[in-house]
Amino acid sequence: MRNKLIVGNWKMHGSRPANAELLSGILAARPFAADVAVCVPFPYLFEAAATLAASEIRWGAQDCSAHDQGAYTGEVSAQMLAECGCRYALVGHSERRAYHHESDALVAEKAKLLLARGVTPIVCVGETLAERDAGQTEDVVKRQLSVVIHALAHCASEIVVAYEPVWAIGTGRTATPEQAQQVHAVLRAQLQAATGHGERMKILYGGSVKADNAATLFAMPDIDGGLIGGASLKAADFVAICRAAA
Ligand code: PEP
Repeated sequence: MRNKLIVGNWKMHGSRPANAELLSGILAARPFAADVAVCVPFPYLFEAAATLAASEIRWGAQDCSAHDQGAYTGEVSAQMLAECGCRYALVGHSERRAYHHESDALVAEKAKLLLARGVTPIVCVGETLAERDAGQTEDVVKRQLSVVIHALAHCASEIVVAYEPVWAIGTGRTATPEQAQQVHAVLRAQLQAATGHGERMKILYGGSVKADNAATLFAMPDIDGGLIGGASLKAADFVAICRAAA
């Protein structure tokens, strides 16, 4: 049986006082039945580590470099994330694909470097509204995932996948549980065929998950938890979502 996983994606939000309040609110609400993690901006990683280290809440980053080390000004390597104690790092978030033109191959390279350093990549895939309207949803997400699976070869079963329809991120428009389940089932079949371990791998749903829609999404058989953006910024909202993943 797969334990649920809830991951907060703070994006480029936060401040030291706001983070302290948010993390102490999450810590005070423990224990959770689900595994819980927060992916914070790079400068806050050490402070998140210090605050969370004695708890079972994990922390992670929102991206990493596709290079191991070297003259790449502004980049942060997988090794540095490992040194910060990161359990997870997001790769291929749709905002990185859209604003930084990240390709499937680049996302795969990042995932590879993370795994080599013992950090679990949360590989985000998802279709745009135009792609959904054109009936291309399954082709798009399968293509995005297959590039990662091929690059990682026998390590592919170590990733977490997040299905995030681009049209649902930050828009208040959520995929219905049935729409999300349909895509998750396709992704799980793909993972199973490629790795033989699809049944134990986690596939999260992301896109306007809130306290009031979380439970029905998480009740679907192939939805193993959520990647939560906006609603991860207030302790009460995030805690309610974590509790919905019982
Ligand atoms: C995200 O940023 O990954 C996300 C799902 O955002 P939101 O929950 O705000 O739609």
